[in-house]
Amino acid sequence: MRAHEAGALHAEGYGGPPQWLPYPSDVNALLPQLWPADAHRDADGQLVVGGVRAGDIAAEFGTPAYVLDEADFRRRAQAFRDEFAAPFAEIGTGLDVYYAGKAFLCTAVARWVGEEGLFLDVCSGGELAVAKRAGFPAERIGMHGNNKSSAEIEAALEYGVGRIIVDSFHEIERVAQIARRLGVRAPVMVRVTVGVEAHTHEYIATAHEDQKFGFSLAGGQAAAAVEAILAASDALDLRGLHSHIGSQIFDTAGFEVAAGRLLGLHAEVARRGHVLPELDLGGGFGIAYTSENTPMAAHDLGAGLAEITRRTCEAEGVAVPRISIEPGRAIVGSAGYTLYEVGTVKEVELGGGGRRAYVSVDGGMSDNARTALYAADYSCTMAVRASEAPPMLSRVVGKHCESGDIVVMDEYLPTDVRPGDLLAVPGTGAYCRALSSQYNHVPRPPVVAVRDGRARLIVRRESIDDILALDVE
Ligand SMILES: *Cc1c(COP(=O)(O)O)cnc(C)c1O
Repeated sequence: MRAHEAGALHAEGYGGPPQWLPYPSDVNALLPQLWPADAHRDADGQLVVGGVRAGDIAAEFGTPAYVLDEADFRRRAQAFRDEFAAPFAEIGTGLDVYYAGKAFLCTAVARWVGEEGLFLDVCSGGELAVAKRAGFPAERIGMHGNNKSSAEIEAALEYGVGRIIVDSFHEIERVAQIARRLGVRAPVMVRVTVGVEAHTHEYIATAHEDQKFGFSLAGGQAAAAVEAILAASDALDLRGLHSHIGSQIFDTAGFEVAAGRLLGLHAEVARRGHVLPELDLGGGFGIAYTSENTPMAAHDLGAGLAEITRRTCEAEGVAVPRISIEPGRAIVGSAGYTLYEVGTVKEVELGGGGRRAYVSVDGGMSDNARTALYAADYSCTMAVRASEAPPMLSRVVGKHCESGDIVVMDEYLPTDVRPGDLLAVPGTGAYCRALSSQYNHVPRPPVVAVRDGRARLIVRRESIDDILALDVE
């Protein structure tokens, strides 16, 4: 069984259509939860996103291409900033939204995040460099990572980031040393592993934590990390505790357990005279990739988390600290789609008399690793024409030399899909360009931002020359 980022419970085998995939009544329909808010088909049956026709993207920028709807990205950022945050104001505290740059970051996106008043999480020197290039305000940056190099820590402190989330005792030492050398006091948060693994509609609560991130709560390591930081208060300014419990989470049950445990430690530290001003509940809010996913509205999610926070603080007898969250996928995921051109179509017999079409496109696991890596499900649709042909169970595969090179595991496409057709895969804004590779020396696709009927390149396509340029022999 392959791994799944949402947990092994989610993994599925191979066979006919999966249970969750309905036979479509209209193979050309766009499911609203998978697409940017303004996505539609025009009179010619063409997909239009951000006011730009898919065919025009292909003509100007080629395929494959990632397309990102700027207005939709901003709307989702605003929903966290305003609708998610409103219930926190009602319980008398503030909420800071850190966009998790690892989902997708480039200079343009860092600017959108900054302009919308959000904060930004980076987890490497490379992501920090993009933030700096975008002129992102340093005090609104959080720096993550379980093995930050001294150079990365130094770069973050020199830029003046608002927080470094420390992840090990070695790192506490390292940050303190570098801060002393630079003559600054480093703002830090402690990454706590709270023994909650949340994915989709299930979560597992354990007393132990067998993973690389953070300081475990149960073993007393998190409390010891707090001690170590307070003991180095000349160099380190402890801002609060942090936890991140998983990805593709659709309800608040896992957060309830996590917040309870995190605030337990927060209260213990407060009772010993150190009232920490902040608390971070992490990211992982789920999005729809297929018809089986139903994400919560930002306001409902915020109301749930605010109520959990209020209740837990009351039970612990502590004031509500300033809360932060770190959504990545929930801001950028559904704002993006990938446009491919079909190269070949093949039909195979399945056991039991069924048939499946294998539709090969001009990209694959190099531009979307999630299907191979996590058995992630996607959906897809014809991008430049609607079809009257009946639906057929299909699998969209890439051009790489691996049978696991699958983009969309199961989808109904019309039986007349043919070479030269364009296909659009929604929900690829997060963790696709970010996880892309040059596997088989296939150059990575560009990212095209669309807005108000205009398309603009924000990350250019890699060329064969780019690939050869690294090869110095
Ligand atoms: C990955 C990650 C996030 C963002 O996760 P999403 O599923 O994209 O919301 C937030 N915080 C931390 C610490 C992460 O590692």
